[in-house]
Amino acid sequence: MGDKVAIVTGGLQGIGKCCAVRLVKAGYDIAINDIREDADAKDYYKDLEEMGAKVFYMKANVTKEDEAENFIKSAHEALGRIDVLVNNAGITKDNLFIRMSKQDWDSVININLTGAFNITKPAVKIMMKQRFGSIVNMSSVVGVMGNAGQANYSASKAGLIGLTKTLAKELAGRNIRVNAVAPGFIDTAMTEKLDEEKLISIIPMSRKGKPEEIAETVFFLADTASYITGQVINVDGGLVM
Ligand code: NAP
Repeated sequence: MGDKVAIVTGGLQGIGKCCAVRLVKAGYDIAINDIREDADAKDYYKDLEEMGAKVFYMKANVTKEDEAENFIKSAHEALGRIDVLVNNAGITKDNLFIRMSKQDWDSVININLTGAFNITKPAVKIMMKQRFGSIVNMSSVVGVMGNAGQANYSASKAGLIGLTKTLAKELAGRNIRVNAVAPGFIDTAMTEKLDEEKLISIIPMSRKGKPEEIAETVFFLADTASYITGQVINVDGGLVM
């Protein structure tokens, strides 16, 4: 399609899918990775192509450094440049801290935080050569305010905020902006099992957010916010203020 290229990790469903669609609507070619491939996914890529984008997909686990690097290199070869990176892939494995296994701690930190490291490093090398780029990390309000039962998840999302601010400082001189979005409770598979009534009672706007509302903010930070770097935007119906 155009001359702009975006990468969205974990872009097969939920917030990542909406981010990919929003970027394609704005003229971006798109590279997506995930850890599975199914029939629905093929229809989704076809839809993106019908919207005019070149689409690159690779099954790649962000926790594996070699797979992450291979995905970024292959996406760059296929699409020619990398203007935007959205570090979206993430999971939850909730439990009270006292009952949390080391395995559940490690797997959440590995996917949500180390996964972003594995993907960002090769992408930044390419952006530095281009002297242009924009990174948006998918944090969470619980990385800002904590949440009982989510020690692993909130630590990973707070870690992403630290990574965002540090990279913003290190990379501003190379014309690379780095920001984060901190969604509140958004209507995706991730929040399906949560107690909706209880959640809504603490949200000033009295509803869950839509993944499209996160994608709009991601797009703003990734594309139009040309003088914003090192910032975290809460998109949460007023939960954190
Ligand atoms: P989701 O529907 O579960 O989507 C997460 C995506 O990440 C899935 O496509 C998943 O693939 C992929 N993924 C998981 N592990 C991966 C790995 N190791 N390598 C590559 N891809 C992997 O969840 P979502 O709600 O859209 O969440 C997207 C992001 O927003 C996450 O970082 C999440 O923490 C953050 N967030 C969500 C909310 C919310 O309320 N939903 C709030 C705050 C922040 P599979 O489906 O194949 O496992």
